[in-house]
This record gives sequence, structure tokens and C-alpha cells, in this order.
Amino acid sequence: MTSHASLPAVPVDSLRWREILDVLRSAKRVAVTTHIHPDGDALGSVMALVWMLQLTGVEAVPVLTDPAPENLRFLDAGGEARVAGDPRVDAVLSASDVIAVVDVSTSDRLGRLMNRVLAAPGRRICIDHHTDGDFPAAPSLIDTSASSAGELIYELSRLLLGDGPLPLRIAEALYAAIMTDTGGFRYTNTTARTHRVVAELIEAGVKPEHIYREVYHKARPEVLRLLGLALAGLQTDIQGRLAWIDITQERLALSGARQEDVDGFVELPRTLLGVDVVILFMELQSGKVKVSMRSREGVNVHDLASQFGGGGHVHAAGILMEGPWIASREALLEAARKALGGRTA
Ligand code: AMP
Ligand code: MN
Ligand code: MN
Repeated sequence: MTSHASLPAVPVDSLRWREILDVLRSAKRVAVTTHIHPDGDALGSVMALVWMLQLTGVEAVPVLTDPAPENLRFLDAGGEARVAGDPRVDAVLSASDVIAVVDVSTSDRLGRLMNRVLAAPGRRICIDHHTDGDFPAAPSLIDTSASSAGELIYELSRLLLGDGPLPLRIAEALYAAIMTDTGGFRYTNTTARTHRVVAELIEAGVKPEHIYREVYHKARPEVLRLLGLALAGLQTDIQGRLAWIDITQERLALSGARQEDVDGFVELPRTLLGVDVVILFMELQSGKVKVSMRSREGVNVHDLASQFGGGGHVHAAGILMEGPWIASREALLEAARKALGGRTA
């Protein structure tokens, strides 16, 4: 019987990692950071990279612009992350010979940390899967065919740590990263490669049900009440091809939920029969409007978002609009109708 045990299930293209490996192998202190309002991919990728580097003897520190949302805090159980506002952040950034930026390649998505990251003396490197970033980094590895930054960090882990089993907490962080960015392995970014990587993570000891529960099954009643209010106000247009929900300050107050609880709400209208584009509008306390968009295959919401200064991916994009609420909302809805070739008002 032939054994395939020695064949790595996920072929690793070591060539494209060469420069990044060179930089990381000669680094002593590395700060690892990501985008504002970190999601599962952002936090999972940051923590996994930090722990991988620590295993190789590098002093690595996670640095965040915003604190992790409650449901993702299990990924930083040891409280290693330094969050902007903490006086230690400046010290970490100025003492690092490398600053690694993951799951983002657009400078302004670093938020409050942007200027400090750009002014820090360390070498900037970037590992991401988003299109058209402007973040100045060298070397950088941008692979838009990767489901998530986590999928890329997994690949890096094989080169940095060799073929031995991944420590469980690294495997769990990467699993959470990939699971959240693929919507539980459902979105179009999910590939055979994604599943191969995930198979390896499960072999390293990850229990899918455990991570799923940690991330998604922690809702408080306030959150489901807000979801109820949002869904009760669901609106559709152009024969159901466009659907949107509104999270207003009033609805937040009525339900008692918080802004960060809205993560994932945009998924529900996607289940509508015949829907092409789904938009979630969220009214921020500042008066700005945070927009999340999702589209089915063949419809590009990245282009729609870029018309308003936003970005993201072809099927998942976002914008931070200046407001006011009604005008921003109408402007985007109008552009969406036009993009879908529907009638305009
Ligand atoms: P979200 O709807 O917040 O899950 O974001 C969907 C995608 O759009 C993510 O890949 C984000 O990186 C991207 N995105 C969200 N908000 C913005 C923004 N204001 N500017 C650029 N890209 C964004
Ligand atoms: Mn992200
Ligand atoms: Mn991502």
C-alpha cells in the first residue's frame, strides 16, 4: 500500500514568501497589526502570526486600533493585544524593527494608528487578500484569490515552523479567521484550497463546533431584538433584486444593543429569493453612516463602494459615508439601482 502521509496536503508556494521570510527571520521585534474594528480574520491572523513568530524566538506583539469585539476575545485569552490609546502602543511601534500589517492594505483602514505606523522606524510588510490597497510596504504579499488573510498566514506557518503539527491555539486562530471570512465556508471565496487548509487545522486539533460556538453563539437578547427591529423594517426594490435594512440610533437605543452587535446582520437578507445586492445602513453616533454591502455572483459591490470612497471585495464591500443619514442612504440606493440596471427615481 502506498502511503501519502509524507505529501503535504497543501502545496506551499515558497518562492512568493521568500522575501517575507527573509525579513521575519532576521527580525528581533515585530509588531503585528490590522484594520479598524477587527473582525475574525483580522484578529485570528494577527494572533496566529504573533504566536508563530514567538515560537521562532521573535519578540512579537499584537497591536490593534480598536479592541476586539466580545465574541472574538477568546482569540486573545492572554490579553496580549495592545490597543490604540494604551501608552505602550507607541513604545511597541517605535521599538519594532518590523511592522507586519495583515488583512488590510489600505492605509486609512488603519484608523488612528495609521500615522504612527507610517512614521515608525521599522520595516513595513503586508500580507493581505484585498484589492487596490495603497499601504506602502516592502515586501508585501497580496493574494486576492485567498479566502482570507488566515489562509495566507497558514501558508506562512508551514514555512516558518516546518511541517510539524501546528500548536492548537495557532490552528484555532487561523480556523476562526478562515471560518468568519468565508461565512462558514459558504461564500464564493471558499475554494478547494480553503478546505485543504481547514482539513489541516482540524488535524491539528481544532474542533469546528467549538470555534463556531465561540464566535456565533454568544448573542444577548438585546442583539436578537435589534435584529428583529431591523428585519421588520426590511425594504426591497427592483422586483426584489435590491434589499436593505437600517440600523438607526433609535433602534439601537430601543433594543439596548450596541453598534458592534450588528456584525453578521447583513447576511440575513441574502437569503431572499432573487436578491442581487444587500445593503446594511448603520447610523453612527457621529452622524456618519457605516455601510455594509453583499452581492451574489456576477454583481460587483466593490465598484459601487468605490464610487463613495469605500472598498473591499467584489461580493463584500463597505463604505463610511459622511451623512446625513437620509441623503447618504438615498445616494447609495440610487447608485445601486443604477448599477443593477433598474429604474431610477
Ligand atoms: P463589512 O461589511 O464591514 O464586513 O466589510 C466588507 C468588506 O468591505 C471587508 O472586506 C472590508 O475590508 C471592506 N470595507 C468595509 N468598510 C470599508 C471602508 N469604509 N472602506 C473600505 N473598505 C471597507
Ligand atoms: Mn477583515
Ligand atoms: Mn479578511
